[in-house]
Amino acid sequence: MPTYKFHLADRVLSQIPGVWGEGMAYVVGSYLKEFFDQVCTSPLTTFSDSDFHWNTSSSEIRSHEVLIYFLPTKQDSLIRQESAGAPLGPGGTTLIRTAGNLSEVYVTESIAAMGGGADLARGFAVLAFHEAMHNKLKKGGSLHSNAVGGGGMAAGTVFANTQLTTQNIEKMARALGNSVPQNTSYLSGLPQSTADLW
Ligand SMILES: [Zn+2]
Repeated sequence: MPTYKFHLADRVLSQIPGVWGEGMAYVVGSYLKEFFDQVCTSPLTTFSDSDFHWNTSSSEIRSHEVLIYFLPTKQDSLIRQESAGAPLGPGGTTLIRTAGNLSEVYVTESIAAMGGGADLARGFAVLAFHEAMHNKLKKGGSLHSNAVGGGGMAAGTVFANTQLTTQNIEKMARALGNSVPQNTSYLSGLPQSTADLW
């Protein structure tokens, strides 16, 4: 059975010294892989497991694969470049567009919201998975209702230790193979990785 590939874009680079770097990015990807692997245990999807790729080139992203951008702050929003007045979420936002969905996570604001003591890497991964749910399920704010998103990581407020619910897993498993084009235009200019996982 095939591996589900998901893509992460590091537009933080070295702008938040001491917190964000290759080490953090790798751990964030590993937590996300745990979450997507849980989704892949469902009989509702044909994928056997998952794998992550940072800073892929746009030509390598297939239409069923999801892409999440990590940005230094809300002010760096890519969504605002697409849609000047778009409302932004506290830790991340997803813009749903037929031509290409755009999901982003704000690292500085997320750190402030998580506070001390939280597992930051897992927190970033939870936020990214939350945006991936908006993205793959093509749902705006309605995702936050239990009936639509299934609570857990789909809830309006998530925490670094939030777990996937059975319903989160089912909903994502049904959607994983669907073609949902991504806005890959902001990958250009990022340092391209040569290694598989970085
Ligand atoms: Zn949300």
